[in-house]
Amino acid sequence: MPKYDFDIGVLGGGAAGLTVASGASQFGAKTLLIEKEKALGGDCLHYGCVPSKTLIRSAHIYHMMRHAEKYGLPPVDLKPVDFRDVAKRIQTVIDTIQKHDSEERFCSLGVKVEFGDASFTDEHTVSIGGKNYSAKKWVISTGSSPSVPPIEGIHATPYITNKEIFSLDSLPKSLIVIGAGPIAIEMAQSFARLGSKVMVVQRSGQILSKEDRDMADIVMNVLQAEGIEIYLNSSLQGTKDLGSEKEVVIKDKEGNEKGLRAEQILIALGRKVNSEGLGFEHISLDFDKKGIKVDNRMRTNHKHIYAAGDVTGAYQFTHAAGYEGGVALSNAILHLPKKADYTFLPWCTYTDPELASIGMNEKRAKEAGIEYSVWTEEFKANDRSLAEGEETGVIKMILDVKGKPVGVQILGPQAGELLSEWVAVLNGGVKLSTIASAVHPYPTLGEINKRVVGNYFSGKIFSDKVKKTLKFFFHFKGRACK
Ligand SMILES: Cc1cc2nc3c(=O)[nH]c(=O)nc-3n(C[C@H](O)[C@H](O)[C@H](O)COP(=O)(O)OP(=O)(O)OC[C@H]3O[C@@H](n4cnc5c(N)ncnc54)[C@H](O)[C@@H]3O)c2cc1C
Repeated sequence: MPKYDFDIGVLGGGAAGLTVASGASQFGAKTLLIEKEKALGGDCLHYGCVPSKTLIRSAHIYHMMRHAEKYGLPPVDLKPVDFRDVAKRIQTVIDTIQKHDSEERFCSLGVKVEFGDASFTDEHTVSIGGKNYSAKKWVISTGSSPSVPPIEGIHATPYITNKEIFSLDSLPKSLIVIGAGPIAIEMAQSFARLGSKVMVVQRSGQILSKEDRDMADIVMNVLQAEGIEIYLNSSLQGTKDLGSEKEVVIKDKEGNEKGLRAEQILIALGRKVNSEGLGFEHISLDFDKKGIKVDNRMRTNHKHIYAAGDVTGAYQFTHAAGYEGGVALSNAILHLPKKADYTFLPWCTYTDPELASIGMNEKRAKEAGIEYSVWTEEFKANDRSLAEGEETGVIKMILDVKGKPVGVQILGPQAGELLSEWVAVLNGGVKLSTIASAVHPYPTLGEINKRVVGNYFSGKIFSDKVKKTLKFFFHFKGRACK
């Protein structure tokens, strides 16, 4: 008689939980997946990546139509955006992807799916609506939610978060975005492009504060050129509901206060992990407000309980959640001691131009105290960028003292796609000389990857020493044009 109902139980049906559940059952483990909402897929599918990237696409098309003349086309007489149609398209895309993340599909893989609020009653048992389920191993992957800080007046002022913004029934005439991280900035640009007047409030002196300042500033210049007002170094003093409008009072570094007014306020100030009501106190789980504490094998302080995804508070991306789910699966089910390694974890902010990053940027290299050199190439020197009318941006390659790449940032058109070559290069330990000698198709944006490497090598190849040697052997006469 087995001691537990299941070999493994998974709490939360988002990117991390779905990776664990599908993998575990396909490896033959009796698997339980518990999800609190009425559908699987998690934040990424319902309130995150999928709706935001669908919205960005609609906003991009509208923006292109408004700028038809830039491409030698007749101006388009555009009607204002009806946000209900945009929201309908977003829902259609979600519904299509939902089929892949459906209860039926997981059941066909052999996973038992239960819906309800789960809470631990002991280290091997969770309860949902009074019914208990025990499992030998557990993976907690309950994700995160928008964090709303205690701003004065906020509870009496209606505001929206990523949970509401994709299903609004009208386009806000004006929108104050509080925060300037990736979610905030992506939404700011999209709504401005759809026709809202957008204001962004940021406490520090830079948007996208994890990125290098020079790169973030280029994005900021683009946003400002598109009409977005950005208030840096501005602390929040309070909010007020004025009826049809809401007010956000901010204070700058000099202590000057200013009241910003808009139809909607979007709070995008980071995430809080979903740990409430899960009964962690019954099992003495080690966690704090930053997340559940795990070792590099994704084990909590109880070696049979793992955590993966946003709930660990580390890298809050879908691909990080999937990766961590895979690490937990490998350790919990295959008993292979796999460790999470984030050295080359890539990410991308899907503004236009996109800003993609892998490995160290200058900020992180300085923090790590390593010596480095920076090599760049601008998109305005890339023929395809010019043909596309997308010439804003630059690629930055960071090399260590031995000339080994430790990081790459790309700010430009389709930067997220262009980064894939670097994902392979950095993870595979591919030599820079391989990229430099590999033929890339012309004209492509991808040539920029080869060009930045070429910039590094050209200093060596066309050095005075090489020139002198060739002159000596082949009697070269030197420059023909002074
Ligand atoms: C607007 C926005 C845009 C984003 N864009 C991107 C992007 O472009 N690329 C990217 O990589 N990442 C993006 N992210 C981040 C990404 O959505 C998250 O990193 C990812 O969803 C994390 O996956 P997860 O499995 O950890 O958590 P989630 O996907 O949040 O899944 C957790 C699940 O657990 C469930 N749950 C919670 N509590 C319980 C409970 N007590 N019992 C049972 N179930 C419970 C939740 O309902 C949820 O379904 C974006 C996020 C937002 C908000």
